[in-house]
Amino acid sequence: MINRLAVFGATGDLNARYLLPALAALRADGRLGDRFELTCVDRAGWSEEEFRRWAAEQLDLHGAAAPAEARKSVAESVRYLRADATSAADVGPAVAGDGPVAVYLALPPAVFPGTVTALRDAGLPGGSRIVLEKPFGEDLASAVALNRLLSEVVPEQAVFRVDHFLAMTTVQNVLGSRLANRVLEPIWNSAHIAEVEIVWDESLALEGRAGYYDGAGALKDMVQNHLLQVLCLVAMEPPLSLGERDLRDRKIDVLRSVRPLTDDDVARRTRRARYLAGRVAGRDVPAYAEEEGVDPGRRTETFAEVTLELESWRWSGTTFRLRTGKALGRDRKEVAVRFRQVPYLPHGLGAEAAPNVLRFGLEPESMTLALTGIGAGAGTLAPLTLTAQPPPPGLPAYGRLLLDVLRGDAALSIRGDEAEEAWRVLEPVISAWSRDLVPLDDYPAGSHGPAMREVG
Ligand code: NDP
Repeated sequence: MINRLAVFGATGDLNARYLLPALAALRADGRLGDRFELTCVDRAGWSEEEFRRWAAEQLDLHGAAAPAEARKSVAESVRYLRADATSAADVGPAVAGDGPVAVYLALPPAVFPGTVTALRDAGLPGGSRIVLEKPFGEDLASAVALNRLLSEVVPEQAVFRVDHFLAMTTVQNVLGSRLANRVLEPIWNSAHIAEVEIVWDESLALEGRAGYYDGAGALKDMVQNHLLQVLCLVAMEPPLSLGERDLRDRKIDVLRSVRPLTDDDVARRTRRARYLAGRVAGRDVPAYAEEEGVDPGRRTETFAEVTLELESWRWSGTTFRLRTGKALGRDRKEVAVRFRQVPYLPHGLGAEAAPNVLRFGLEPESMTLALTGIGAGAGTLAPLTLTAQPPPPGLPAYGRLLLDVLRGDAALSIRGDEAEEAWRVLEPVISAWSRDLVPLDDYPAGSHGPAMREVG
């Protein structure tokens, strides 16, 4: 187990909202040894005292689930350094120390290549690890280049391309439910399943994150990584084990099986849109183009939808719709598995049975199965819903990820070839959108999203 963690991007949103609280949860759970050292680094140039005070405030705000003593222990022991993450002279002292270090790049993705180059030039202690956040690169070419650069610094097993969706118990429940239940896996194929929807609709708007989001957009921020990873868990063949090799080999099989999209497919099977001014949960939200820090000329989408097909024995004939949007009227974060109609309904048993739908609620956690049963009147049918509430997770998703990084278990991180393959899946969409083959629609904030478009 590695005992040193250096977080670059100390005063950023990710560190404040997820990493520091996750460390407090790990501290409370007794997972961090007495020798554990945390160094937070950025270029703000605060004093250590100021940073510790800020960290304590953030922990109170975002980490209240962890006991006060654990929060205090994290805030009072953190070391703070000023450094430009792209300067070898600056990063050297931040990573120097006794034994290997895990370096967490909680930085804007555009800074990753400069930081990895600086780490290479400064040199890392043997056995060190590098953790990168999504999106991994900005397109296929930059992902390939970043993989090459990383391989000059540490071996592939020491690169953790984290995707916190994979560590969410709700997401893991998709795989757990499939593989641990006799009733599901035999019908988990295109003979029985017509459509799978993987949806992350949120009522949150930009919330001041233009600096990052305006350069990425919904497709690169959500679909290319989180939603494709969920697709992999839904569609993968049963792995031999949940070890890193078996799990990641089966995931990449899914990505490789995605039928390449032609321009015509992109025109018919994808949608993109931007929110206009509106009201969400009683709050006025400005149009995306008017949000502070947004360059309207970039035409960044805040809604993206892509429908994919998989070319495989198991899935040929099922559609997979991946959809995400910001500033929508309601939060809908789920995987909905829609089964085909029954082949025959005996006379006298109602006119039509609604298809069964199995829903995995990703946030908040839930699981429901829509069935059909006998209704009150003779010869009528009525919907029945079975609902289950899975137990709460022991650790927050980032706690589990950080523990895996420190322990060296890469099963839940994305392998280099997977990251490239995920870009390959979406390259046709990025290319067609950049050529305006798909219009940039709009939708009022607080609505259900853009209206369906007639495609000729
Ligand atoms: P922020 O913009 O909030 O924070 C980025 C941090 O990096 C800031 O502290 C910034 O400092 C610092 N930084 C930028 N350039 C340098 C540099 N050259 N040297 C030193 N520090 C630098 O971004 P987030 O925290 O939101 O995101 C970080 C990463 O995490 C991104 O890759 C994002 O995609 C990913 N992520 C974020 C999530 C979130 O909810 N926030 C969720 C999942 C992933 P300064 O203020 O000086 O620019």
